[in-house]
Parts: sequence; C-alpha cells; structure tokens
Amino acid sequence: MADEGRGRPEKPERAGGEASWHALEAHEALARLGATEAGLSEEEVAHRREAHGPNVLPGRRRVTLAEIVLHQFKSPLIYVLLAAGAVSFAVGDAKDTFFILAVIALNATIGSVQERKAEASAAALQELLVLQARVRRDGRDLALSAEELVPGDLVLLESGNRVPADLRLLTATGLAMDESFLTGESQAAEKGIAPLPAETPVADRRNLAFAGATATAGRALGLVVATGAATEVGRIARAVVEGEGSKPPLLIRMDRFAHQISLVVLAATALLAVVALGKGMPWLEVFFFAVALAVSAIPEGLPVALTVALSVATSRMAKRHVIVRKLAAVESLGSCQVIASDKTGTLTVNQQTVTEIHLPSGEVFRARGEGYAGEGSVAPRDGGEIGEAPGRRLARLARAAVICNEGELVREQEVWRHSGDAMDVALLALALKLGLPPREVRAGVRLLGAIPFESERRYAAQAYEADGRTAVAVKGALEALLPLCTRMDGPEGPLPLATDAMERVALALAEGGHRVLAVAEGDLSGAAGGEDLDETGLPPLVLLGLAAFIDPLRPEAKEAVAACREAGIEVLMITGDHPATARAIATELGIAGGEGDTITGAELAAAGEPGSAAHLAAVVGHRVFARVSPLQKVEIVGALVDSGQYVAVTGDGVNDAPALKRANLGVAMGSGTDVAKDTAEMIVTDDNFASIVAGVEEGRFAYDNVRKVVYLLIATGAAEVLLFTLALATGLPLPLFAVQILWLNLVTNGIQDVALAFEGGEPGAMRRPPRRPEEGIFDRLMVQQTLVSGLVMGGLAFGLWVFLLGAGADETGARNLLLLLMVLLQNVHVFSCRSERVSAFRMPLARNRILVAGVLGAQGLHLLAMHLPFLQNLLRTSAVSLREWALLLALALPMLLAMELFKLLRARREARAAA
Ligand code: ADP
Ligand code: MG
Repeated sequence: MADEGRGRPEKPERAGGEASWHALEAHEALARLGATEAGLSEEEVAHRREAHGPNVLPGRRRVTLAEIVLHQFKSPLIYVLLAAGAVSFAVGDAKDTFFILAVIALNATIGSVQERKAEASAAALQELLVLQARVRRDGRDLALSAEELVPGDLVLLESGNRVPADLRLLTATGLAMDESFLTGESQAAEKGIAPLPAETPVADRRNLAFAGATATAGRALGLVVATGAATEVGRIARAVVEGEGSKPPLLIRMDRFAHQISLVVLAATALLAVVALGKGMPWLEVFFFAVALAVSAIPEGLPVALTVALSVATSRMAKRHVIVRKLAAVESLGSCQVIASDKTGTLTVNQQTVTEIHLPSGEVFRARGEGYAGEGSVAPRDGGEIGEAPGRRLARLARAAVICNEGELVREQEVWRHSGDAMDVALLALALKLGLPPREVRAGVRLLGAIPFESERRYAAQAYEADGRTAVAVKGALEALLPLCTRMDGPEGPLPLATDAMERVALALAEGGHRVLAVAEGDLSGAAGGEDLDETGLPPLVLLGLAAFIDPLRPEAKEAVAACREAGIEVLMITGDHPATARAIATELGIAGGEGDTITGAELAAAGEPGSAAHLAAVVGHRVFARVSPLQKVEIVGALVDSGQYVAVTGDGVNDAPALKRANLGVAMGSGTDVAKDTAEMIVTDDNFASIVAGVEEGRFAYDNVRKVVYLLIATGAAEVLLFTLALATGLPLPLFAVQILWLNLVTNGIQDVALAFEGGEPGAMRRPPRRPEEGIFDRLMVQQTLVSGLVMGGLAFGLWVFLLGAGADETGARNLLLLLMVLLQNVHVFSCRSERVSAFRMPLARNRILVAGVLGAQGLHLLAMHLPFLQNLLRTSAVSLREWALLLALALPMLLAMELFKLLRARREARAAA
C-alpha cells in the first residue's frame, strides 16, 4: 500500500456541481481529491469534515409543534364543541362558553403532548437506523457511520450494501447496482471503472455509484466524490432514505371503529334528545346535554391512546434489541404463528472457528485457540508434531484460504481487530496459528479477477499471480467444489479424486455440527490470464482439503425456542448449510426431533412445483430446510403464508429481501445487508433469535394494552349513555349538567386511557396461543365485559340518583354527589381494566405508576373542583364531607368486585372448557 508521502493536498474540488468524475481516469480522480489508495489520514478527514459537513441528506422534515396542535382541532367532535361554545355565547352564557373553550384547550393540550411524545420516540428510533460503511483510511479498513464520510474517502462495497455517498469506482468485480430510485430503471446496472465521455448522461455513468443505490452483486472500491446534499440524490432533494411511514392497519381499523361508535352514540344521543324534548325540556338545555353526552361517550381519545400504546411498545422493544421500522409490525409480532429463522448468526453466534483440517491424504489436524485471534496452535489430531511434508500441504491449503478471502484480521496495540465475513476471518486466524501471517501471504501475490462468494453459488474463487505463475484459489461447500475438481493433493503430488471418501469425511464432520468448507486450487497459466474470472473460466481444480468450523449456539437460543413452543409459535430453520450440520444444530436447539424433520432444497424441488399441493405438503411437513437457495426460501415462505399462517422470516443477505417481503413480517439482522434492512418490517440489532421472541412478547403486551384502552373508553361511554337513558325513561330529571359530563370525561378518560397504554406485560402472555390474525378487537369477550361493566356502572349511578331524589335531596346537591360517584367509579374501574385475565388485586401497583398517579391526579382535580369557588361556580359543585366521600367510595367499590367476579367466572369456564 502506498504510504503517507503526500503533502498538503490542493483544496479538494467542490464536490458535486459540474464535476465530471466519470470522465476522469481513476488515478486522476484520486489526484483531484488529494487522495491515495491508502485512504485519507484522520487529520485530513477532520479538515474536510469541517469544510463539507456531515454526509447526511436533508432528511424527512420533522413535524412541527404547531402542526401537531393544529391536528388536534381537526376532529368533528371539536367542531361540535365549538358550535356548542358559540351557541352558549350567543345566549349570553359566558360561564359555559368559557368552560367549553377550556375543555377544547385541555383536550388539545393532552392530545398534543401525547402525539409529540409518539413522534419523538419514532424519531429516536430512526436514529438507531444509521447506515454503516466500510471505509479505508490510513491504510486500514474501518466500519464507520456513513455520516462520517468526506470527499476523498475510500469506500468498500459488497453485495447488499447501500451506497453511502456518490462514488467514482476504482475497482469493481461483478458489480451490479439497483439505481431504480434515481433512474427508474428496475434492471440492475452493470458497473465498471473505465472513463466515459464527458457528455454521458447520469443514468449511463457506469463508473459511478450513486448514494442511495444498492449493490445487488459483486464487490467494489470507490472514491467518495460527493457527500450529503452535494450528491446526485441530494441535489434532486428527494428523500430516498426513509419512505413516509404509512398508518398501521390497527390504527386504521381503530379510526374506523371510533367512527362507528361515534355514529352509534350520536344516534342514541339524538334519540334521547328527542325524548327529552317530548317531555317538554327547554331545547337549549337538551342541545347542551346532547353535545356533552356525545362528547363524553364518543371514544375520541382512542386513536391517540393507541398511537401512544404502539410507540410505548416500540421503545420497549428497542430496549430488547428489536427496532420496528413500521408501527404495524408491533401488532403483527403479537400474532406471529411461525418464525422461520436463519441458522448462522441468528441461532448461532456466527463466531466461526476452524477446529479441524482434513487433508485428502487422510492426515487430520486439530486447531486450538478460540475467537478471532491469531493465537493458538495446530497439531496432528493423533498427537505428535506436524511432519514436514504434511506441513507443506497444510500450508498450501491455508495459503489458498488466505488468498481467496475478503476478511481482515490484524493485531493492533495488543488487540485483535477483524472485519468481513466470519468464515473468512476464521480462516485468517487459522493461517496465523500456522505461522503464515496473511499480510505476508497477500504481499507476495498480485490479485487478478475474482468470483465473490454469494449464497446461491456456495463458493468463492480468486485468481492471482505469484512467482510468475497465474493460479486460482477456490473455497466453498464440498458439493459445489467437487464437480470442479479433478484431482486431490497427495504426498507425492496430485492423486485421482476420491469423491466418496471426501464426502464421507465431510458428512461425519457435518453430523457433529461442524460447518465444512473445501479448499482447492487450479492452474491458470494456460488461460487468458485471470483478469476477468468467471464461472466458465475456472480450470480443473486440485482439492487441497477440508476445514471444519464450529459456530457455537447462542446460549439463549434453546430457551427461546422452548418459549416459542409454549406460546404456540412454530420455529423453522432455513439455511444454506449442509443438511447434516443443520440437523445437528436443530436437534440440539429442540427445533427438530428425528431425521424426518429435515429436507434439502433439492428434495423440495423434486417434491413438486411451488404452489402445488405436493410442494405445500413438503414445506408444512418439515422444520429444517437445508442447502436452500434464496429463491427456494421465498417459495417456502410463500407456501407457509398461502397456507394461512402468519409468518415471521429472518434474513440478512441481499438475496433474502424477496423472502422478507413475502413474509407477513420480515425480520432483518442488525449485521445484515442494507437491502435486507430496507425491506424488513423490523430489525433485530443483536442478530439474536431470542430477541425476536422478546419482540413477540412485547407485541403481545402491546396488543393487550390496546384492548385495555378500548375497553376502558367504550365501557365508560356505555355507562353514561345507560345512566341518561334510564333517567329519561323513568321520568327523572337529567342526572348531570352538560358541563359536568364534559368535566367527567376530562378528569377520568383523558388521563387514564393513556396510563393504560403504559401497562407492563402480563406474565401469562407467552403461555397463550397466538391470536388469530383476522380476529378483531371487538370480539365476544370485549362485548361481554363492556356490557357487564356498563350495566354495573350505569346501574350503580342510576341507583344513587333514584335514592337521592327519593330521599328529597335538592337536584343540584344530588348532582354533586352523583358526579363524584361517577369519578370514583371510573377511577375504580380502570384498575380492573389493567388486565382482562389477571385479577386487579394481583397486579402490583408498582408496575404502572403512571396509572396510580393518574388516578390520584383525577381525584385531586376533582377535589379542587368541589372546593375552589371558581370551579364550584362553573361546575355547580360543592364540597363534600370526608364521610360522604368515603360512603361514595364504598358504593363504587362493588364495581371492582363485580368485574373481578366476572373475570373469575370466565377463567373458570375457560378452564373447564379446556379440560
Ligand atoms: P447460511 O444459511 O447458514 O448462512 P450460507 O448461504 O451463508 O449459509 O452458506 C452456504 C454454504 O456456502 C456454506 O455451507 C458454506 O459451504 C459456503 N460458504 C459460506 N460462506 C462462505 C465463504 N465466505 N466463502 C466460501 N464459501 C462459503
Ligand atoms: Mg451465511
């Protein structure tokens, strides 16, 4: 690598603008940016960072506070209230006008605060989704946030990467780019490095890679020529970074639901109003009463409370390493029935270590020393020292594995730093253990063309020139390499290939849970020279041996699989690995039992056409899918989805994107490619299968909370409507004044619905089968509990009203007590809403402090209303004695008991039904 030896570079070209980077030779572009092939120095980067600013696009505009506030007023309910305010003003009732305006203002404030919180947490999640880039600086390859790039930086691209800035390509191997966002062309564009005529239109600049495009295949090294707003996409100022989030289906359904309920309430209210008018009540009073009742009974807080519930869930999930890209994923997670997981990296840690090397001549070596470090030793498995001749063959294998390798493993100030593919790094570690530093091996060869590793191909090849000879080093799955090999390495030069023997060795290793990689070499001297290596250009190869890797299971994975089983979720494994390896690991994890649980891609293809019944049966009948190509993965997922299951699928590679899209819930790995992350609904930042299960749990919690909010709001509305209906039907005066109903709505629901959205999860959530995806919120249970609680609450209130009037109390005093009872009833009821299954007496208060604070706050506010002269005057309230308060509380408590009894009886019945 070239060294520092450059002076202060000329001031870099004002990036972007008219610069025609595509017309320059690669070295000219480098020179123009004062860059070298070793990358910029950190000092220089700091300089340029100052001049160019961070590499960020003018992102999605944040919603302003004013917009959020304004949004609160865009509700028919507010219009009704405004009309009521106008009417009361017209008839000269300043007090009521003031109160109605205060209600509107308070409603808007509460709504704004909640919405802003939800916005803020969504924005915070976006921050976690920063794009990473592999950058070469000071001759070292680093992984950095794309924001840190400056013009002149060198960026390494591989298939699946999103291009972090505009690049002039310096090297490109089989590189294809999806630039559809820029050019509208859906076909991937092949890329090269040759200079182009200056007048070439943007879409045809084959030697440039544009920020926001994704590499669909190949590898490349590119020079950053423009960052941030100066990039091609930044200039057209189109935000490709993040699409506008669409409204989750749950919220859409809730909006519709709130709308329907509103219609019901309005009809009921209109009916009551007609009856009241018929009884000769003054029309103005009826009007205000109708408005107040409608406003109270309509669950206008529902959509906002739900948004809060979902965003509370997203931030809880983020703490458990699950980032939800679309709010919709929160609810989908809860109803997930099948998780189809990758093996490598998700169920295992993807910390590959070579443990054994088998030479074709039969010698076996064992490697010691764990982790990505060059420390450890290699010795014959059966003891003794490595003999000179086998040592030479071992070194030949290791050398080929270092040449055909995209990883990096170096020791810097006592610590080992690694980057790139886990298998590659493990092979570098092996070479170090054998005393073959990769740096020295690489210094001795000149790399020519390459066939980079892609999952479908299962092997990689690298052509090179060393000691005046051109050759190719190849590594990959044994089945992929065997057809390419004609001979194998032996003590006295190449031997005829013993296919069966090699396959037997590989199978035995795979059955022990090892991943096996074959290494081979071929002579390219006769051929064109290896500059443009492709699959047809490979010479007959000589098999050098097998390397066996161990990739430990994730310690939490086994437990997580068991948790899934208990939660009624089926776990499947889909992998590109060998069936024996896959089965060994699946068995250990408890995913699969017998041999019959595993099927290979080839067997699946033989079973029947995708979409046929035979294919479906083959998919449904197995749990472990091995040697599966990315295309088959999509077919498997498709079959599962078509069979009516709600399927979550994990993926990390560029080729996984279609499967993620096809799934009900695409789950990308945090270490996965940008393409996978862009397609997925959610991202698991620690790649861990157990985190997906944690996400499912949070999803179920969230859905439960949504139900609680709905229950609370609908039940209290029903109680109010019932109270007024009974009063009118029995010829009694209206139990509450309009302003009192509005107040009631404000101090109870306005605070409590959101508090329920913060309810912690119930421990039993993962012991239930998944909810059927088509199941609506308003199921039988919801109808039952709403009816029961509405009846009890409305009945108790009506009973008090009848009693007080019968006892000769004056109407205003009786209303004061009734209003207090209603506040108490709703405060009591909210405790029973905390769980649909678990008794309120068993829910620790500490688990939802917000709710406790909300209830105390509501009581406090209402005490103020009864004692402050100003509010007394407004609400026609008066102070009550402690005794009266205690008596009313005693009257409200049966509400809680009734609802707990309902829960208990239902649980009994369910238990009996299950028995
Ligand atoms: P998985 O689904 O387990 O991640 P992959 O699709 O990554 O499987 O790999 C499939 C097969 O390709 C592996 O079993 C191995 O034989 C081979 N392979 C994996 N990584 C590499 C690599 N970096 N170079 C060459 N071959 C590889
Ligand atoms: Mg893999």
